[in-house]
Amino acid sequence: MMRIGHGMDAHRLVEGRELVLCGVHIPHEKGLLGHSDADVATHALMDALLGAAALGDIGALFPDTEERYRGACSLELLGAVVRRLEEIGYVPVNVDVTIIAQRPKLRPYVEEMRKRLADKLELPIGCVSVKATTTEGLGPEGEELGITAHAVCLLRTLDGGARA
Ligand code: MG
Repeated sequence: MMRIGHGMDAHRLVEGRELVLCGVHIPHEKGLLGHSDADVATHALMDALLGAAALGDIGALFPDTEERYRGACSLELLGAVVRRLEEIGYVPVNVDVTIIAQRPKLRPYVEEMRKRLADKLELPIGCVSVKATTTEGLGPEGEELGITAHAVCLLRTLDGGARA
């Protein structure tokens, strides 16, 4: 059986923070504000995976009120989501992430982003898509107030999986 999921997230761009997208540290004069590393792309992807399995969202799984998630590496949290899915009999088939940012130019980092996600998802890189787009200056992303990400994914049930 196949299951589809969608996730979306947005974080504010501020000075004095590292910019981390899909686990890759990207040189920029601003970074994303958040309780964890604020990796908006990985957050959208985790919500897509959890959504496909109807497991709620990352806010429920990793509450931002919990001190242990302060500065947390979202890529590590993604690994925890994948293990949680496996426990109930699901594995990812493919994922597609879209990052909406006016600046910086993300294309030079996309291959490394795909590699990092593929590693945590235990998928071949050909099943992991990361795309970046601008909004031609429109809206909060265009005005560089923040970065938004969307993600979709497909899950399949493991042979003999609990939900098969
Ligand atoms: Mg978030």
